[in-house]
Amino acid sequence: MTHPLLDDLAPLTADRFAAIERQVAGLLHTAQDVVITQGEALLPLEGCIRGAAGPGTTALNVITGPYGQTFGDWLRDCGAKVVDLAVPYHAAVAPEQVEEALAGHPEIDFVSLVHAEAATGNTNPVAEIGEVVRRHGALFMLDAVASVAAEPLLTDAWGVDLCVIGAQKAMGGPAGVSAVSVSERAWQRMAANPRAPRRSYLSLLDWKERWIDAGRRGLPHAPAQLEMLALQACVERIEATGPEVVMERHAAAARAVRAGAVALGVGLEPYVHEARHAAPVATTLRVPEAVDASAVVARALVLDPGVPLVAGGGALAQEMVRVNHYGPNASPEVVERSLAALGGALAG
Ligand SMILES: *Cc1c(COP(=O)(O)O)cnc(C)c1O
Repeated sequence: MTHPLLDDLAPLTADRFAAIERQVAGLLHTAQDVVITQGEALLPLEGCIRGAAGPGTTALNVITGPYGQTFGDWLRDCGAKVVDLAVPYHAAVAPEQVEEALAGHPEIDFVSLVHAEAATGNTNPVAEIGEVVRRHGALFMLDAVASVAAEPLLTDAWGVDLCVIGAQKAMGGPAGVSAVSVSERAWQRMAANPRAPRRSYLSLLDWKERWIDAGRRGLPHAPAQLEMLALQACVERIEATGPEVVMERHAAAARAVRAGAVALGVGLEPYVHEARHAAPVATTLRVPEAVDASAVVARALVLDPGVPLVAGGGALAQEMVRVNHYGPNASPEVVERSLAALGGALAG
């Protein structure tokens, strides 16, 4: 028996792989190299940190959610000195706070920041922060997994040296493929780092040597073909729809959930205090005191198993409900059903 996906698929050529890289570069507004990494976004995020940071590094690690915690752990593991700038999860980091941290530690030469945090529902002002980081001269790494396609992402204009994306959130693609743009200075930093992974799946330098510098003629290992085709399909869908239209769908869903949750009158409040700090990709809500958020989500999912509701991770599981209105779920129908299920769960 033949199967259209398994038997009739032509091999993914180096040319096609390179073309998909350029399409992703277009989405990121970057003229830098883009490396497509064949794994979930944690792969390039870890690859960036282990490649760029070492015992001689002083890193400013901005923590506005759980991913920032993880970056700090990796940075310390690499031997870097880490200055943590932690901001309460209900807000965004202010450029002035970054400026102050840099002024207090002139030796900082690496800054890691998460753009939007799907886990906590906030988004950070990267354009302004990028300006501050550029003035200081540090290498700037951005986790844009939860912002790409949901809100503007101007990699080069914002001075981002390492911009990591994944396909699984607002792009509406698979989780098994991700990408990172790498500036010339970031390549130099990695090349000068004796501890940067080599001959390793985490190694971005291996991709540079064996793929980019070799003229993108032969892939270093077998491409994850289905994920690559899916990545191309979702980039092309965004282009065909219009990136502004896709972004506005996410922003509209976020506005509707924020306003609708309060209008339900069941004690739900936006977790992120100010609307301008709220991420378009997902909306977090605080449940009334003495109510358990995971129980609310469980009841809501009994009422409507199809809605994209989850309780907050870890310690947030008690107090936070998250509406993951991204990708195909960035629609008025899904928003309405999510709110109805939450209303029913809290009224019952
Ligand atoms: C979703 C997300 C990732 C990817 O991690 P998962 O644990 O696979 O979801 C990375 N960074 C951020 C900011 C994200 O929102």
